[in-house]
Amino acid sequence: MKRTKVIDALKRTDFGSEITVKGWVRSKRGSKGIFFIALNDGSTIKNVQIVGEDQNFDEEVVKLITTGACLSVTGVLVESPAAGQSSEIQAREIEVLGPCDNTYPLQKKGASWEYLRTVAHMRPRTNTFGAILRIRHNMAMAIHTYFHEHGFYYFHTPLITASDCEGAGNMFQVTTKNLYDLKKDDEGKIDYSDDFFGEQVALTVSGQLEGELGATALGQIYTFGPTFRAENSNTPRHLAEFWMIEPEMAFYDKQDLMDLEEDFIKYCVRWALDNCRDDLEFLNKMVDKTLLERLEGVLKEDFVRLPYTEGIEILQEAIRQGKKFEFPCQWGDDLASEHERYLVEEHFKKPVIMTDYPKEIKAFYMKMNEDGRTMQGTDVLFPQIGEIIGGSVREESYEKLMAEIDRRGMETEKLQWYLDTRRWGSCPHAGFGLGFERLILFVTGMQNIRDVIPFPRTPKNCMF
Ligand code: ATP
Ligand code: MN
Repeated sequence: MKRTKVIDALKRTDFGSEITVKGWVRSKRGSKGIFFIALNDGSTIKNVQIVGEDQNFDEEVVKLITTGACLSVTGVLVESPAAGQSSEIQAREIEVLGPCDNTYPLQKKGASWEYLRTVAHMRPRTNTFGAILRIRHNMAMAIHTYFHEHGFYYFHTPLITASDCEGAGNMFQVTTKNLYDLKKDDEGKIDYSDDFFGEQVALTVSGQLEGELGATALGQIYTFGPTFRAENSNTPRHLAEFWMIEPEMAFYDKQDLMDLEEDFIKYCVRWALDNCRDDLEFLNKMVDKTLLERLEGVLKEDFVRLPYTEGIEILQEAIRQGKKFEFPCQWGDDLASEHERYLVEEHFKKPVIMTDYPKEIKAFYMKMNEDGRTMQGTDVLFPQIGEIIGGSVREESYEKLMAEIDRRGMETEKLQWYLDTRRWGSCPHAGFGLGFERLILFVTGMQNIRDVIPFPRTPKNCMF
């Protein structure tokens, strides 16, 4: 018999029909010769209840129906007498496709997040991770749909690169060289001429620079792919391998950019509320009781648009009133997430787009303001998360960009192709990067970024 997914089985009202479902046992209980199985197949957070009488089944089969086992069940769809579910299945035939013994690591309820990370190959079978992963899929769909509907083209930027976008030393090198026998030059430096690409290359930390090439040809593009940063920071908001969405738009100014950031992120949150209701309600009940309220709150509010300099004044005033922060926040300091969260959660109580940062804490490619001290960055700060989007208007003037590159003492040898955009038909443009997992953190109410990606990569951890 053709299999019906649990999500569809629960909607059916043709009681009396025969039906087959397949899935994994979440729990089994029984009394007086009758057993009840909660079966889940991942199509929905909800389980379908299977009811059977011991006497109708082989004793050996009934014994194999344990938490975690995989079953195929054929029976009759009946209206459920139990509250909170419309239908259940009276089992006629049960086949144990995959038995599961008592070493199964997910037997007990209420396992800690830390423990579940050690069994990340199995944790997608828990209710919570099922919900998170369905939401994650939905957010990817929301993102592609948003950009497609707004005339952006999905542009694929390389993962292996010879340029270092941020100028930081946090890249993972890629090599086919024998690390036990490295060829070195007279000065003892590694000679890459015999390496696969003939030069030193690494995994990308951002697709932005290539994204700008796309925007100056196709007008509006976005990237959506994995990004790699060897940050040894071990925070609940950083992964070594994460997914990033980077739209880049020709002819956008700061205002257009902020409008897009706000509209885009609200669209994603609305999509979750419209399409992931059951999973969100589950998370709201089990993980974070203010989740739905917070998601709906974001949709209602206009985001505050706050120049960095004013943000610093607010933080300094808070300190004068007795607020204590771990890190300093004088003008010129890069804000820590405690500062970002203070502004968002305590001061404004709504998301903030912070703009016009000191040039010393931002990247070389950002457009300089008239004051010569600040750059046109537009980061979006969110409750619970801190920075969720990093954006900016890009410097389109060749001379100004070169002056900044010189001031920073950067090498331009490997950046020529990027600088060519400013030499040949340069145009005003802007873009941003959204960390996909930070969006998922916000939308699920989870606290640790390791718990919103199936297999997290963090310092000293590359399991599964
Ligand atoms: P942060 O200050 O939080 O480290 P950043 O300034 O390094 O962020 P950008 O380089 O602007 O971040 O990257 C754009 C977005 O990518 C960030 O707003 C954030 O959402 C996300 N992001 C950055 N680093 C990581 C990481 N290691 N893991 C997950 N997401 C990240
Ligand atoms: Mn960072």
